[in-house]
Amino acid sequence: MPLHTDAQIRLFICLKDNFGVLLHDPATGATAALDAPEAAPIEAALAEAGWKLSDILVTHHHGDHTGGIAELKRRHHCRVVAPRKEAAKIPDVDMAVAENDRVLVGTLAAQVIETPGHTLGQVNYFFDAPRLLFAGDTLFSIGCGRVIEGTPEMMWQSLLKLRALPGDTRIYCGHEYTETNIRFALTIEPDNADLRARAEEAKRQAAAGQATIPTTIGEEKRANVFLRADVPAVAAAVGLAGKPAAQVFAEVRARKNKF
Ligand SMILES: [Zn+2]
Repeated sequence: MPLHTDAQIRLFICLKDNFGVLLHDPATGATAALDAPEAAPIEAALAEAGWKLSDILVTHHHGDHTGGIAELKRRHHCRVVAPRKEAAKIPDVDMAVAENDRVLVGTLAAQVIETPGHTLGQVNYFFDAPRLLFAGDTLFSIGCGRVIEGTPEMMWQSLLKLRALPGDTRIYCGHEYTETNIRFALTIEPDNADLRARAEEAKRQAAAGQATIPTTIGEEKRANVFLRADVPAVAAAVGLAGKPAAQVFAEVRARKNKF
């Protein structure tokens, strides 16, 4: 799918399996890094595109999302936007944000969506035009983040907020975990045709050396078992027919942790 003409994106790998993302607004030249796992690959992507870093939008405090901030800030004097609830754990924060706050990258406007679970203060950035979601470690393609600081119930509620976004929203997530996620999801929903199609697509992407993202909200709703804890067949598959979705989600997440 071609990118919308009024935003440009560069996607690359940082560290071992973190995604680095640059979002560029041609109207103003503003460029944001979505998280900063490490400085060098972000610098390389900036140089290759000929863009100047104006902002870093941080999703959460983990080191593999924040390790490059201090160096990038020193070099580019960029603005660092980060979740208010984790600002004390993140270097050089200029703007601390919370639910429904608006963040501008040049003329591109994002809404802040709080998605506690993986960490308690995690935020996601949702751009409406074009529709883009930067999901950090909340939602992955065919997966979701580990529930480290919050509760499964909290994480399920966070995922429901993301699931309610428009189906054509393109999702950029924090890690390239898709292949493992698909192998796990097939243990719960072996007959889900959309999941099987996604497995074939991911195989082709891997063979071609391509990233498996962006994905979309619509596609994830059909194929991501972690967004499907309220589907009766998923509850039945984990032996919890008729039980509350949050309980089904907790069981699916627990099985993934052991996978
Ligand atoms: Zn994390």
